[in-house]
Amino acid sequence: MSDTNARSQEYSRMKERLALAGTALTLAGSALFLGTGLAAKMNRRLLPKTRASFTKRVRYHGSLSLGSLMLGLPLSFYSGYIVEKRFGLSNQTPRSWAIDVVKGEAISAPLQIALIEGMQWTIRRWPDRWWLIASGTAIPLTAGLTFLFPVLIAPRFNTYEPLEDTELAARLKLLAEKTGIEVADVMQMDMSRRTTKANAFFAGIGHTKRIVISDTMLAGFTPDEIETVVAHEIGHQVNRDLWRFILSSSFVTLAIAWVTDRVGRRAMSSRPELVGATSLGNPRALPLIALAFGVAGTVITPLQLAYSRRIERRTDRFAVALTGNGSAYASALAKLAALNLADPNPPGWVTILLHSHPPIAERIDTARTAEINALWT
Ligand SMILES: [Zn+2]
Repeated sequence: MSDTNARSQEYSRMKERLALAGTALTLAGSALFLGTGLAAKMNRRLLPKTRASFTKRVRYHGSLSLGSLMLGLPLSFYSGYIVEKRFGLSNQTPRSWAIDVVKGEAISAPLQIALIEGMQWTIRRWPDRWWLIASGTAIPLTAGLTFLFPVLIAPRFNTYEPLEDTELAARLKLLAEKTGIEVADVMQMDMSRRTTKANAFFAGIGHTKRIVISDTMLAGFTPDEIETVVAHEIGHQVNRDLWRFILSSSFVTLAIAWVTDRVGRRAMSSRPELVGATSLGNPRALPLIALAFGVAGTVITPLQLAYSRRIERRTDRFAVALTGNGSAYASALAKLAALNLADPNPPGWVTILLHSHPPIAERIDTARTAEINALWT
């Protein structure tokens, strides 16, 4: 095993363990919060009356999310900053890392409050069918966020500018046009501000689609390799995989909401003292809803990951077919894996629990096999 491989494996194993520990800690923390009576105590203090005002509810939501953010902070700092730094992947300072956390919270907190308020309103309005109605509205919401994120939110974290290499830009545009995808601009993005990792993706809707390539990729990849990576992204566009992703997330939301309804109702009728309420529509039910969501999500997520890996496999074959350059794609994948310190061959259960993409070793094999097959047909 080479040095890079050993380092990749060490890094991946560590990140995997931290991710699983994070999930376990969140669930355990949530369960303890309820089980020890702390949730009920906090409910009596912050929401003394059954009909709490909007301000009181916002204060309550805010305290709960701040509490969970604070409890998770040591682990996320360790995983997101210290480990990244130790393996030479991060270009951040503790200050810029903290600014990212604050910015992220400032954007997600109002959204979270709106979602919780909306969900609990739905529960009160349709106590029996809320899970169906809430997941139905989740589809346009998820779609909106998925499309708007790269347009409205991502630029607040990075700088985007037109690709300097105009020859490469023209080549990538042409490649997309061959498949009927119209591209407005090819951009580059200063990913090196944060990390040495590399990436390329599509941003935008309709006729304003943009191809974005990280400066880290421009620095270390040949034009042929970049073309194959972009071809993979074009494959997602051609097959409308963003919609598949949105629909599969909506299905996951539906399943989670249904389980939350069943489990939540049973828990509240048998042990109302847990949160001091008997209906999931009561603002006091939030800690119980959070735990039910957490448990259901942990169980259901592997299904969504398996579906995602299937889409990625197909998109890899598409990239090789479009460029006819399986060897450039294989070397691009190897470079990406090296830059991102991905374990090329993780244990099967790790792939099942955590990975949205097939193992790199398998993807490289696919790229080479697809190229050989193309030569024979
Ligand atoms: Zn992909």
